[in-house]
Amino acid sequence: MHSEPSVFRINQTGYAAGLPVTAAVLGNGPVILKNAEGETVRSISYDTPRTDPASADAVTLVDLGILAEGNYTLECGNTSRRLTVCPAPWNAVTHALIKGLYYQRCGCGLQPEHAGVYAHPPCHTAPARDWEDQSVSRRITGGWHDAGDYGKYVAPGAVTVAHLLYAWKLFPPGCSEDLNIPETGNGVPDILNEARFELEWILQMQRSDGSFHHKLTKSHFAAFIMPQNDLDQEYLMPVCWCATADAAACLALAYRVYRSFDEPFANRMLLSAEHAWAWLTAHPDLVPFTNPEGVRTGWYRGENDKSNRFWAACELYAATGSDLYRKAAENLYAAGQSLTQFGWSDVGGLGALCCLFDLKEEAGEVLYGRLKNDFLRQSEESLALSRASGYGTSLAPNRYIWGSILPVMSHAMAMIMNTLLTGRQEMRDAALLQWHYALGMNALDLCFVTGFGEHTVRNPHHRPSGADGIEAPVPGLISGGPNKCFCYPQTREKLGPDTPPAKYFLDETPSADTNEIAIYWNSPAVFVGAYFNMPV
Ligand SMILES: [Zn+2]
Repeated sequence: MHSEPSVFRINQTGYAAGLPVTAAVLGNGPVILKNAEGETVRSISYDTPRTDPASADAVTLVDLGILAEGNYTLECGNTSRRLTVCPAPWNAVTHALIKGLYYQRCGCGLQPEHAGVYAHPPCHTAPARDWEDQSVSRRITGGWHDAGDYGKYVAPGAVTVAHLLYAWKLFPPGCSEDLNIPETGNGVPDILNEARFELEWILQMQRSDGSFHHKLTKSHFAAFIMPQNDLDQEYLMPVCWCATADAAACLALAYRVYRSFDEPFANRMLLSAEHAWAWLTAHPDLVPFTNPEGVRTGWYRGENDKSNRFWAACELYAATGSDLYRKAAENLYAAGQSLTQFGWSDVGGLGALCCLFDLKEEAGEVLYGRLKNDFLRQSEESLALSRASGYGTSLAPNRYIWGSILPVMSHAMAMIMNTLLTGRQEMRDAALLQWHYALGMNALDLCFVTGFGEHTVRNPHHRPSGADGIEAPVPGLISGGPNKCFCYPQTREKLGPDTPPAKYFLDETPSADTNEIAIYWNSPAVFVGAYFNMPV
C-alpha cells in the first residue's frame, strides 16, 4: 500500500504536541488517522476538494486537531503517510537555519570541528579596492556571503540581523541553544554570536562621512567554485541611501541587544548609527543605487528610502529616547508605511516590530495607538490570502516571485505579531500553516530546508554546495521556492507555460530563479521557527 504516490502533504519534520495538526490531502477522502498500535484515532470525511488556484491541485486541508505525542499513520484509499507528533519537533530545524548562516561566513576558514565535511580554508581575505577611487584599498573582514553567490550586501545583511535579533528578543526559549560555532560557550547566546559576525562587518562598511557602501563584491559573479578559490579583486561599491538607513536601524537595534553583553561594542554601534542618521539628514533626496558600468553583481535597488528611514528613526528613538527621532519617525509614518513587509525592499514591518513590541505605549499615540490599528488592519490581508489558498499558503497565485519564501515567511511574521497583540488563535494557526508550507506541506511535496525532510531540496543554487564534491548540500539553507514571475528562459523551457505558479520550481543547481538560497530567507524562517519552537 506504500507504492502509490502519497496523497498527503505534511510538515515533514513533524508536528508539535499542543498545536493543531494539519495535513493537506489530494483528491477525495475519507481520511483515517491511526496511532502506532493501529487503532483509528480520527476518521474524517469532507466535501469535494476545491481547486487551489496557485497549484491547480484539488486539495483539502484536514485539521486533525491536537494530538498526543506519538507516531501516526494517515490513510486515504490505498495510500498512507507516517507523521510524528512530539514536544519540540522544530528545535533542530530552527537552530539549523541559524547555523546555516555560520556556513556563509566569509574571511575566515570553517573548521572541521564546527563545519564537519563542509570545512574550507579562509576566503576573500585580500584588501578590497574602492570602485570610485581604485587607488584606495581597505582590508574589510568577515560578513556572510549573501546567497548562492559570494557578494556581501549591507541592506540584506542588516535585515537578516534584525530578524535574528527580534527572534531572540521575543522568543528567546525558541532560538537560544548552542550551535557549535567558534564562539559557543562564551556566555552569549549563539544566535547573538552569529549575528555579531555580520554586525562587525557592517560597521566596517561605513565611510568616514557616515554613509554606508552598498556592497562589497567583485565586478562579476564567480563561477561555481569554492570561496577560497574565488581570488578576483573585490570592490567597495558606491554608497547608498537605503543601505545607510538600514545599517543605522540595525545597529541601533543591536545596541540595545548587546548592551548587557558588551557595552563598548554596543556603544560603537550606536555611534555609527547616529553618524549614519546625520548623513541621511544632510542628504534628504534619495539617489537609488545603480550598478556602476561594468558591474554585474546583485543590484538590490531600493526605489525609495521611506520605509528604511522610518525603521531607522524608530530604532534610534528606542535606543536614545530622543524626541528628534520620534518626530522623524512620526513624519515618515504619516507619509504611509506598509507594516507587514520585512524584506530588503521594504522594511516597514521592522519599524512596526520596534514600535509594537519594544517601545509600546512609550511610542505615543501615533507610533503605538494609530500604528497598532493600522498594523492589525494590514495583517488581516495575510490571513485572507491564507484562507484563499488550498494549502493555506499566504500568497496570491500571481505573487510566486523570485524568493517567494520571503513573502510567505513575512506573512507568517505578521500573523504571529497579530497573535501576540490580540491572542487570536486563528491568526496563530494560519501562521503555522506557513511554517508547514516551508517544511513540506506544499504542492511540491518538498521540504525547502536543506538537510531536513523525506523529500528535500538536493541541488540548491549555492556555490559551495555545488563545488564541494559532497553529495548532500550544506545543511540548514532555505530555498527561495517556486517563481513564475521573473524566471530564466531555460526554466520556462523546462516547465512550460502550463505549470502552475506553486509548482514552478526546479531542484537544479543552475536554477537561481527558483532554487537559490539567501541569508534573508533563512532569517524570517528563524523568527517563525523560534516562535513555534517555544513551549506551548
Ligand atoms: Zn568569502
